[in-house]
Amino acid sequence: MTADQIKDNFDKIRLDIANAEKASGRESGSVTLCAVSKFHPAESVLAAMDSGQFLFGENRVQEAYSKFAEINTLRPGKAQLHIIGSLQLNKVKKSVEIASCIQSVDREDLLKEIEKHAAKLNKMIDIFLEIHTGEESKSGYEGENELMFSLQNLSSGLYPHIRATGLMTMAPFSADEKLVRKSFSSLRELKEKVNSRFPELPIKELSMGMSGDYKIAIEEGSTMVRIGTALFGEREYNKPSDGN
Ligand SMILES: *Cc1c(COP(=O)(O)O)cnc(C)c1O
Repeated sequence: MTADQIKDNFDKIRLDIANAEKASGRESGSVTLCAVSKFHPAESVLAAMDSGQFLFGENRVQEAYSKFAEINTLRPGKAQLHIIGSLQLNKVKKSVEIASCIQSVDREDLLKEIEKHAAKLNKMIDIFLEIHTGEESKSGYEGENELMFSLQNLSSGLYPHIRATGLMTMAPFSADEKLVRKSFSSLRELKEKVNSRFPELPIKELSMGMSGDYKIAIEEGSTMVRIGTALFGEREYNKPSDGN
């Protein structure tokens, strides 16, 4: 996709988001766009930055690491990166180095590992707790007990370098709008519950909505949509240069 096409896509999606905010009585600007640049080259990210986009999401740490090293050399201190993909413990160190937020925290041992590396770097890092709300997705906290245990530990100061600022989910990949909507509304309801039980935690963000379902997500209260394909085009998963 050319730089001009990418800029046009950003204009279109920004307009769509603004219209969806308006249509559902949301305040203008209440939904943040996280541009998902996984599998797309640094040039695509630079085109997005030229159109005024500075928040990006990546799900593969190694790919993000080298891509954003290049971007930060060209445009120091401009891009902000969120890790959005399921994480293995051995990827946490690099994630903490390069990201301002890890959106895909779905178990206690990740919190421990994030704290360990953030403490070493003397860095405060934001996290979102990822919740399993749809049948088809595999990631996310499943049971409420485990989630409450993590929230309790966050609340009691066990992880001083971690700020829990949101919840994240992926809706099922389904043409059934009701299923998708239910997944989003259940995340919103969970956030209300968490906010009333742990008012001391700064959990404000609801990260939900992707290319195929972001309008529904905004209607259901999303504060951050994670959009890739609609901005950068289809991902080419089997380019030889990917090494997989
Ligand atoms: C890839 C990905 C997205 C973006 O998906 P699109 O359908 O391309 O918009 C959003 N969230 C997560 C967690 C992803 O892995």
